[in-house]
Amino acid sequence: MNISPVMPTYARVDVAFERGEGAWLIATDGRRFLDFGAGIAVNALGHAHPHLVAALQQQAAKLWHTSNLYRVEGQEKLAARLVEHSFADTMFFCNSGAEAMECAIKTARRFHQAQGQKDKYRVITARGAFHGRTLATIAAGGQAKHLDGFAPVVDGFDQVAFGNLNEMRAAITPQTAAIVVEPIQGEGGIIPASADYLKGLRATADEFGLLLIFDEVQCGLGRAGKLFAYEWSGVTPDVMALAKGLGGGFPVGACLATERAAKSMTAGLHGSTFGGNPLAMAAANAVLDVMLETGFLTHVQATADHLWKLLGALVQKHPKVFAEVRGKGLMIGLKCIPPNGDVVNKAFANGLLTVVGGDNVVRLLPPLIIGAAEAEAAVAILDRAAAELAA
Ligand SMILES: *Cc1c(COP(=O)(O)O)cnc(C)c1O
Repeated sequence: MNISPVMPTYARVDVAFERGEGAWLIATDGRRFLDFGAGIAVNALGHAHPHLVAALQQQAAKLWHTSNLYRVEGQEKLAARLVEHSFADTMFFCNSGAEAMECAIKTARRFHQAQGQKDKYRVITARGAFHGRTLATIAAGGQAKHLDGFAPVVDGFDQVAFGNLNEMRAAITPQTAAIVVEPIQGEGGIIPASADYLKGLRATADEFGLLLIFDEVQCGLGRAGKLFAYEWSGVTPDVMALAKGLGGGFPVGACLATERAAKSMTAGLHGSTFGGNPLAMAAANAVLDVMLETGFLTHVQATADHLWKLLGALVQKHPKVFAEVRGKGLMIGLKCIPPNGDVVNKAFANGLLTVVGGDNVVRLLPPLIIGAAEAEAAVAILDRAAAELAA
């Protein structure tokens, strides 16, 4: 037997971590790393945040799971808070981003089919998108490297260029049910949609009677400096997927919707055994306790401003290594000249964790609790890594 007991679907770096403290991870061999990947935008409040630890410990001693056959008070609390702070009227809790997107797609199909429009099921997505790894969400993402070997592709998805409103409008047919975009593409290489584009999508969706779905699994929950990235544009969707940062490291996803979009998602139509269990809800409510504190998002924006200035200078200093810095808030892409994997490896060797993204980008997705000191430490490491690469 040559296969590892863990199915080899990841090319893993040979390091394992034992514990974390804020923005730092300590490996089993004692090495310390500044974590600017945050478990791919998940550890929004860093590692071992005292409020999250206490919330989860208290809940763990009381009740873990009851199923969704009964009321779950943590869900009612979390949903009420997210309703208060978003466009949404209602939401479904699940365990991951892909599941949140599955619920969003099902909500869109159901919306039209409940009105007798059985043929209205297709969803238009954007090239470079990432919506998860289930059969439907790899079809939605449309990336060849994710679809390879998993034919037949789930039917019902059409793709157009990201940011091109004319192409989007031209792709609409009588079968189109919804439009899906990430307000800031994440895996695709940290590419923000312009406010004009999002406004155009909203108007187009309204004109053709389509649902507008935002995938904020990566860019939501403070990552872009607002609670939700869509707030920068003033455009609200009909349906929105959340996950990554929502549980601060505990698996939680949510599909948020307006009453109009979700009104035909009635009892028995969708479900999840684990979704929204008391442990997950304790974690997510604790995350919101911190994120909704006055000053939290202002701090994220101030830290981001400082980091962006430093990164701007870094890019200027190393034109053979970095081409551009882009993104929003603490969702940052460094477009590289050498292969982005080389930059990630050099940063790793110097004690900084980052993540590769599409379009030869290195993603910086630090915990939102970092301050000026961590921003400066990260840029100092990137500076060293770039100098080593250029040499
Ligand atoms: C990560 C991600 C997903 C998938 O989330 P999983 O929890 O891995 O299923 C979906 N959409 C976006 C934008 C993501 O970044």
